[in-house]
Amino acid sequence: MKINGKTRTCGLIGNPVEHTLSPVIHNHLAKTENRNLVYVPFLVEKDRVKEAVEGAYALNIHGLNVTVPYKSAVIPYLTEMDKLAENIGAVNTLVRTENGFKGYNTDMPGLLRAMETENYTIKGESVILLGAGGAARAVAMLCMEQEAKEIFLLNRSVEKAMAVAKEVNGIYKENKIIPMALSDYRKLPERKYLAIQATSVGLYPNIRDAVILEEAFYDRIAAAVDLIYNPYETRFMSMVKAHGGKAMNGLKMLLYQGIIAYELWNEVKILEETAEEILIKMKEELKIHE
Ligand code: NAP
Repeated sequence: MKINGKTRTCGLIGNPVEHTLSPVIHNHLAKTENRNLVYVPFLVEKDRVKEAVEGAYALNIHGLNVTVPYKSAVIPYLTEMDKLAENIGAVNTLVRTENGFKGYNTDMPGLLRAMETENYTIKGESVILLGAGGAARAVAMLCMEQEAKEIFLLNRSVEKAMAVAKEVNGIYKENKIIPMALSDYRKLPERKYLAIQATSVGLYPNIRDAVILEEAFYDRIAAAVDLIYNPYETRFMSMVKAHGGKAMNGLKMLLYQGIIAYELWNEVKILEETAEEILIKMKEELKIHE
């Protein structure tokens, strides 16, 4: 593309940022759409988040993504918050408005769109949610929004599972989230479950790990999503498949959180065929051959 006086800049703030796939997503979208826009990573040092957000606005930056560890830290420097982002308490997308940046969370809508493309539904399902970190907390909200039947929230530190359950149940004024220790999975009612793996266990280079290694657990899983995408097929996914369930990884979640951010910045709707093209580019970047 030709960079000229009218080129708009979007980017990512976080630390670290050098392994991000977001430039692949956004620069490919801009190219496909013939939009005069570039997307670059910005490494932001701890304690400089305020300057980064205000400076980006002053520099007429069109939109920003936010990654770890700043998804909550940026909030005080925004002029507005989308309701979902406010409930989740984490922001991954900043949209330029007349007075400052407005914060959105596109991770959860991204996960939902990714699941829909693979014909997964949450509504009416019994869900096992593994983990109680930032991602799991947001997935718990998504399950509430999407009217899951019940949500068993399993975490290594049971007190964290209890805190997340209490908070999310409180927001939605329901008691659908039942916190449990990870080791108590044997006490789960006999059902077929949708499992969402939101711990960091199994992430490269620890590819032989899975959050639960006991074979009997996997007999209960009809469908599973692992938020991890490196490795492309986690040990958790392999075990689900070996027991007859279907499994998807988190790469499409990453893709669609990017697409939804791009749609917010540019007020467009991206076609499914474009999304598929970008997925191929992301796999090339990750050196995934299927
Ligand atoms: P986080 O806040 O650090 O939470 C980590 C979670 O993993 C906690 O529940 C923690 O349990 C659990 N955990 C860590 N080591 C464990 C072990 N050895 N055994 C059992 N449980 C363990 O991380 P996060 O931000 O929620 O992210 C979680 C995962 O989601 C990461 O792998 C991340 O890459 C992935 N993710 C993917 C996308 C995407 O776009 N695909 C987006 C966001 C996140 P304790 O509470 O007991 O420590």
